[in-house]
Amino acid sequence: MTSAGDGIQASGPEQGFATRQVHAGQEIDPAHGARITPLYLSAGFAFDDFDEAADRFNGGAGFSYTRLGNPTTAAVERKLAALEGGIDAIAVSSGQAAVSVALLGVLKAGDHLLSARNIYEGSRGLFRDVLSRMGIAVDFVDEHNDPDAWRRLTLPTTRAYFVESIPNPRNDLVDLRLVADVAHEHGVPLLVDNTFATPYLVRPIEHGADVVVHSTSKFLAGHGNSLGGVIIDSGRFPWARYAELHPHLTQPASGGDASFVDRFGPAAYSRFTRDVIASRLGPTVSPFNAFLLQQGLETLSLRIARHSESALEIAEWLEQRPEVESVDYSGLASSPYRALSERYLPRGAGSVFSFTLRGGEAAARAVHDSVGLFTRMTHLGDVRSLVLHPGTTSHAHATAAEKEAAGILPGLLRVSIGLEDVPDLLADLDQALARIPVETRPASGRIAPPSSPEDSPRDAHRIHEHILRRAAVSIA
Ligand SMILES: *Cc1c(COP(=O)(O)O)cnc(C)c1O
Repeated sequence: MTSAGDGIQASGPEQGFATRQVHAGQEIDPAHGARITPLYLSAGFAFDDFDEAADRFNGGAGFSYTRLGNPTTAAVERKLAALEGGIDAIAVSSGQAAVSVALLGVLKAGDHLLSARNIYEGSRGLFRDVLSRMGIAVDFVDEHNDPDAWRRLTLPTTRAYFVESIPNPRNDLVDLRLVADVAHEHGVPLLVDNTFATPYLVRPIEHGADVVVHSTSKFLAGHGNSLGGVIIDSGRFPWARYAELHPHLTQPASGGDASFVDRFGPAAYSRFTRDVIASRLGPTVSPFNAFLLQQGLETLSLRIARHSESALEIAEWLEQRPEVESVDYSGLASSPYRALSERYLPRGAGSVFSFTLRGGEAAARAVHDSVGLFTRMTHLGDVRSLVLHPGTTSHAHATAAEKEAAGILPGLLRVSIGLEDVPDLLADLDQALARIPVETRPASGRIAPPSSPEDSPRDAHRIHEHILRRAAVSIA
């Protein structure tokens, strides 16, 4: 019903990303010719007659009830599948719902999930505190780019691997191809949360991922206005080859129907996950949020290119500041993840990064409370720039040892760089850094002095010079 190829404006693989983000999945409304897929804010859809009602309940084309499908939602699902290069997309009410539903499409009681440790804290809590209560065990891999670390923790009951393409907040990138290859050695799918990268920066399916999930609340909707999530099926995982590992897809279904693989072939996982998991658990996205998501997606490439350019400029500027101990951004020449960044993120390294102040928590508090243009908020991927202190907020429930191991030090702040003018953002950071209490400023002598005054711009004038110099370099 919602394959990526449906629709008069659906794109072939030959079309570019920007063309697909505008046109894929859209159909001109047959009733009135509305050019944008309208907002069908309706719980249900009338049946013409007895036979049509029966047909809709037996998998026939058309809509019956919004929990099972809605035309506004279906259009944005087709667009998302086209952008990630999958065969189908299932929109749900939040990113957390997407992670839950995607995993329950694979896992049952008695199974084991193997995840990178450096994932979103909400997902880690879901695995640790919720899936465990359902009889699904989980282990976390620390050395996520060491294939043997994954092999060592894989059990006979392991049924899925889970990673994020750009982990938060430290940008310690995952080598997707490497992890996909180990997952496939064991006959299990790799699920990738691609929220921070978006399909504009990386399409994990091209690097071996089997299922991609997003919180669409972030960059995909892009304007900080609505929650949502999506699950995208690559259609490539060979469920039938590992039939005994995935019996819910390969054995006859309840009621004696043929198996999902027999009925739906490459779409077995997405049909099971849509019809059995999402529609019965019920985390349905409002068609209104799907409409806002559709609008956001139409400008995705423009926004992400600008987010990434600005983030790099600000990360480079912060790295030169004496108050700053380190900056975790994979686009920086100094990043240990630079090689992976060049391989997987050639169009830019994203908008979100963290930096650690030498003055510890007192310095972080001062900068956090002194910004004016940045908003203090737990969100990201907004057009507005945001700042957060993970150690006392998102990661407050991690133990001190866990925070230390993850590099979430007391002086660490996370920023999500928005679409404002860079000189204005630098001016805001500059005045906030100047508010760090003197007693927590680095003792003189600890820091090498800047090699020239321009390396440490102190006022708006110097900040503008910095920008102009960079512009001259990039033009040259
Ligand atoms: C925000 C986020 C989620 C959860 O998404 P919600 O829409 O807030 O439920 C999951 N994964 C990542 C990487 C996120 O940033």
